[in-house]
Amino acid sequence: MAGRVDLDGNPIKPITICMIGAGGFIGSHLCEKLMSETQHKVLAVDVSNDKIKHLLEPATLAWADRIEFHRINIKNDSRLEGLIKMADLTINLAAICTPADYNTRPLDTIYSNFIDALPVVKYCSENGKRLIHFSTCEIYGKTIGAFLPKDSPLRQDPAYYVLKEDASPCIFGPIEKQRWSYACAKQLIERLIYAEGAENGLEFTIVRPFNWIGPRMDFIPGIDGPSEGVPRVLACFSNNLLRREPLKLVDGGESQRTFIYIKDAIEAVLLMIENPARANGHIFNVGNPNNEVTVRQLAEMMTKVYSKVSGESSLETPTIDVSSKEFYGEGYDDSDKRIPDMTIINKQLAWNPKTSLWDLLESTLTYQHRTYAEAIKQAMSKSTAN
Ligand code: NAD
Ligand code: UDP
Repeated sequence: MAGRVDLDGNPIKPITICMIGAGGFIGSHLCEKLMSETQHKVLAVDVSNDKIKHLLEPATLAWADRIEFHRINIKNDSRLEGLIKMADLTINLAAICTPADYNTRPLDTIYSNFIDALPVVKYCSENGKRLIHFSTCEIYGKTIGAFLPKDSPLRQDPAYYVLKEDASPCIFGPIEKQRWSYACAKQLIERLIYAEGAENGLEFTIVRPFNWIGPRMDFIPGIDGPSEGVPRVLACFSNNLLRREPLKLVDGGESQRTFIYIKDAIEAVLLMIENPARANGHIFNVGNPNNEVTVRQLAEMMTKVYSKVSGESSLETPTIDVSSKEFYGEGYDDSDKRIPDMTIINKQLAWNPKTSLWDLLESTLTYQHRTYAEAIKQAMSKSTAN
């Protein structure tokens, strides 16, 4: 840890970071990294600390004096400004960010992703504090290629689908497709942050995650989350595999995604934290363009990997098709394809992801099996007994 230097060879000075949403999936991995590999201090803000409990207790841990948890709902707590003032850098991760909520709770989604983020931006700007704000790859919406005829050869041309921070348009569906409430709220807060930079000199970095996945993502319905809840695809498919149910493919599972291992992505965030001169004023795609699959292919790969790590045979019918209306309800729509352009992050931070999809699924599903298999068995035998 001693003698750590930034990308320009300068020694890295320890700073204090106000991390909002620190108790979530990304926040928990970022806190772990900051505690184990750096000397930075974290003021961890969230409504829940379940995913970072292991970092907070017992008080004898080597980093005990470098992390403190503040149970704060940023919607209505006057302590937020004080914490931002105490810190050198604020990282805002807080959001409603599960697609099942976008069309069923659009007001909560818009408030969470736009209105609740406003004071954070304002306090950073007014107090001259640096901000790293988490946006989303969903900001790109659909690709230009999605509007070409199915058999058009142009669909194979990267110019029609690769997503570039400084060139691609944001293409959302109509207002009645409330799926886009999240992307639209994230877009407006990005524009506001950018404008604060341009007009008031706010030092900002915007992160656009492309499907980061790994241990501690979301919840398993009925075990550590609501039994009717619908998490993101990794947890949905893990839940199906753990319960020996077929994996549900929404609208044929034809949408394409690129998945990146959380630990690779966290490396990129650490570079942003420690290289402000290279990261300020930039918007960064953070994804793995080499890990592209259709959702159907993801289901097939997860089925194989789970069988390997659990020692259980696969089902005879491993997947079933469901309509998006049935699965998510009215107003759902989807991004067709998400390949991040890596030019800007390569140039500014010399960062590239490392982990293949198979390897990241193997470590993640090993974790899921170890963490949940027994609890699910017990829950299932209880419900059969009743
Ligand atoms: P997450 O849901 O696990 O974490 C979000 C955290 O914010 C939760 O712990 C939640 O309790 C907290 N939070 C929400 N509202 C709050 C409030 N009002 N006050 C205090 N805390 C609050 O999600 P994540 O996957 O860790 O995502 C973090 C950020 O990254 C989000 O902004 C999300 O939009 C963005 N993002 C993530 C991905 C991904 O692949 N995981 C993809 C695109 C965008
Ligand atoms: N999906 C699916 N079955 C599920 C959950 C999700 O087919 O059980 C699909 C969903 O329709 C989308 C993709 O998987 O096309 C990724 O969904 P996720 O919730 O991870 O979020 P997104 O990438 O759309 O933001």
